[in-house]
Amino acid sequence: MLRLTDLAHRLVREVLSTGDWAVDATVGNGHDTARLAAAVGATGHVIGFDVQAAALKEARRRLGDAANVTLHQASHDQLAAHLPPDARHHLKAVMFNLGYLPGADKAIMTKPETTIAALQQACAHLLVGGRITVMLYSGHAGGAEESAAVRAFAAVLPATFNVMHMARLNAAAEVPELVLIERVR
Ligand code: SAH
Repeated sequence: MLRLTDLAHRLVREVLSTGDWAVDATVGNGHDTARLAAAVGATGHVIGFDVQAAALKEARRRLGDAANVTLHQASHDQLAAHLPPDARHHLKAVMFNLGYLPGADKAIMTKPETTIAALQQACAHLLVGGRITVMLYSGHAGGAEESAAVRAFAAVLPATFNVMHMARLNAAAEVPELVLIERVR
């Protein structure tokens, strides 16, 4: 069965090449970060953000001594401020996996205001041909509001972006959603 988290990776892998700049806006335990690091190779670079020290510690352990990853314990709405000069306006991929980290403190979750600010900055620094993926979850408290805020933000992006939305239709409860924002010119 197709999983949207895997689809997000496929959509990102399709555009990522060796030497590219990529951002993991919600590092968590670092699964997504590790896959991005493998895709950009030793000459590329991944910049990761998370507000939880414990998550970043686990991510660093997973990543080993990979020199092509820089992790910041900072909110992703500080993205632009943390981009090295060469990465500015040169991001090929930015991944968001919203909500809380399973198995960790559920009170620490992404919030609409900072998520939208981060998305704005990601859009502003995206290369033509670059892609942003956002995994949305509306099942937890505040999740539906955040999902709605992301859809509303993405829906009014100018035509320089191609915006797509996917979610499972034949499921009863809240299902994850995937939003793709692709800069086309
Ligand atoms: N991609 C991860 C799962 C991410 S879960 C994985 O593959 O394991 C969401 C993560 O977002 C959590 O780790 C949480 O700490 C983090 N987070 C919450 N608010 C944030 C913010 N404002 N900026 C960056 N990360 C945030």
